[in-house]
Amino acid sequence: MYPLLLIRYGELSLKGRNRRVFEDKLLTNIRVALRDIDHGAITKTFGRIYLETKDNWGELAERLQTVFGIVSVSPVLKTELDIENIKAGAFKAMEEAEGKTFKVETRRPNKSFPLKSPEVSSALGGHLLRNIPNLTVDVHRPELVLNVEIRQEGAFLYSKVIPCQGGLPAGSSGKGLLLLSGGIDSPVAGFLSMKRGVDIEGVHFHSYPFTSERSKEKVVELGKRLSHYNAGGKMKLWVVYFTEIQKELQKGSFPSLNITLMRRFMLRIAAKLAERENAFALITGDSLGQVASQTMESIHTINAVTSMPVYRPLIGLDKQEIIDLAVKMETYETSILPYEDCCTVFVPQNPATRPSIEQVLRAEEELRVDDLVEEALAKTELLYLNS
Ligand code: ATP
Ligand code: MG
Repeated sequence: MYPLLLIRYGELSLKGRNRRVFEDKLLTNIRVALRDIDHGAITKTFGRIYLETKDNWGELAERLQTVFGIVSVSPVLKTELDIENIKAGAFKAMEEAEGKTFKVETRRPNKSFPLKSPEVSSALGGHLLRNIPNLTVDVHRPELVLNVEIRQEGAFLYSKVIPCQGGLPAGSSGKGLLLLSGGIDSPVAGFLSMKRGVDIEGVHFHSYPFTSERSKEKVVELGKRLSHYNAGGKMKLWVVYFTEIQKELQKGSFPSLNITLMRRFMLRIAAKLAERENAFALITGDSLGQVASQTMESIHTINAVTSMPVYRPLIGLDKQEIIDLAVKMETYETSILPYEDCCTVFVPQNPATRPSIEQVLRAEEELRVDDLVEEALAKTELLYLNS
C-alpha cells in the first residue's frame, strides 16, 4: 500500500562542498545494502532519496536501518492530484499510525494545484477529525504529523517516521585499521567508527596452536558481520601469526609485564600494516578500567610505540552499553562463544596495572623487537570477507 520510501539524511547537508561526494557514497551504499531485496528505482531530489518499493516497504526499511548516513525513513503514499483522492490517502496514512493528537503540514511546490497549502491542511484535518474517533488537533506538540506534498507527479503523504542509524555514509571518511579480537568490545568499536564514515580493515593476532582454529573462525565470523556496514559490504581481514612473539614473551623474565609487552607488539605491527594500507588510524575496543591493560597508565605505556592516532570509541561507555550495541549489531551471540583468545591463554598471574615506559623498555632489551615484528608481518595472511 505504500509504493515509496522516503529516505532522509540530515547531517550530510551540513557538509558544504563535500555534499555531492557524501550523497553519491550514500546512494551506492543503499544499492549495495538492498542488492538481494526486490525494489524499484532509487532517485535523489532536493536533499532526499526516494525508493520505489514492490509492496515490501517493511523489509526495505528494516535493511535501510543498517545503512549509516540515513537518519530516518518514511513509507509514502502517492495519490492523484485532486482533493478527494488526497483525503482518502490521508485517511489511510493516518489509520495505521499511533497517536491521539495531530496536525497536517502541507507543502505545495506545484503551484498549479487549485488549493493553497493552508487550505489543503484544513480540508484534510477536517476530514480526519470527522472519520477517526478520539483524534484532536494540536498544532504545537502533536503526537502525529501528517505530511503532504503537492508536486507535479501527484500528492505524497506520510505520517510514520522510522528512525535509522544516522552517522555518515560508510567509506566517506577514510580508512582505519581495527584490532579485532574475538571479544565483545572490538566489533562494537569497529561499528562506532564505521558509523562516522570510517572504512575498516581488520587485523587479528592469532597464536595457533595455543589458540585454536575455531577461535580464528569466530573472528572471521565477526568480521563478516562487520563487513556488512563497510563500504561495498566487504572487508579485508589480516591474520597475523603471533605465536613466536608469545613464545618469546613466555621465555622472558618479566611475566607481570607480558600483557603490556604483547599489546605493544600488536600496536607496532598494526601501525606498519596501516601505513602499508594507507589507513590513518588504528581502532581498538579498549574501555577504561575493564582489565589490567586498560588503566590509563597501561594505555599510555602501550600507546607509546606509535605516533599513529589510536581511536578508542568505547572509552566513554559502560560494559552494559557496549553489550547493548553488540546485541543491536548482531555480534554479541558470536562474541560470547567460549573460544579462548590469545590474551586469556597467556594472561600472567599478576599483570602489572601501572607499567611504566622505563620498565617495558628494559624488558624489551631482552627481545629482538624489530625482527619479531618483521617476522610476524611476513607471516600475515589476508582474507577477503563479505556479509
Ligand atoms: P575485546 O572484547 O574487544 O576482546 P577486551 O575487553 O577483552 O576487548 P582486551 O582483551 O584487553 O580487552 O583487548 C583490548 C583491545 O585490544 C581489544 O578490544 C582489541 O581491539 C585489541 N585486541 C586484543 N586481543 C586482540 C587480538 N588477538 N587480535 C586483535 N586485536 C586484539
Ligand atoms: Mg579480549
